[in-house]
Amino acid sequence: MRRALAEAALAPATGDVPVGAVVLAADGTVLGTGHNAREATGDPTAHAEVLALRAAAEALAAGAGPADRRPGDWRLTGCTLVVTLEPCTMCAGAIVLSRVDRVVYGAYDAKAGAVGSLWDVVRDRRINHRPEVITGVLEPDCAAALTAFFRAR
Ligand SMILES: [Zn+2]
Repeated sequence: MRRALAEAALAPATGDVPVGAVVLAADGTVLGTGHNAREATGDPTAHAEVLALRAAAEALAAGAGPADRRPGDWRLTGCTLVVTLEPCTMCAGAIVLSRVDRVVYGAYDAKAGAVGSLWDVVRDRRINHRPEVITGVLEPDCAAALTAFFRAR
């Protein structure tokens, strides 16, 4: 989560909301990182989680993962996504589709959170892949970064 917070700290330089994400392999290797970049890129889908998942998939495709991995496999099986803020519905969908095994987040998002607060997309029993969810990790630090950003605006 400290690594995700460091990523989040990069976002305000471009006017982006400070949310950071990291994808780790089962052995703890960092496969991908990302921070919100909607303003930086003009891409409405450039959320930290999506960028980190894409980076991790690219790293695995380039050979960063286990030696027995099949070429062209897009699945992030065995991986953990760590993000400073509870994912939105889009990111919760991306998390399910990526097949990560675990989601860890810091601050809760009562207004738009889709991993327990407003919805619980990733643990919906109607879907066939449900990652483990761990919440509230370094929550005060994660929330403070957001509060400081919005207060400054
Ligand atoms: Zn999102």
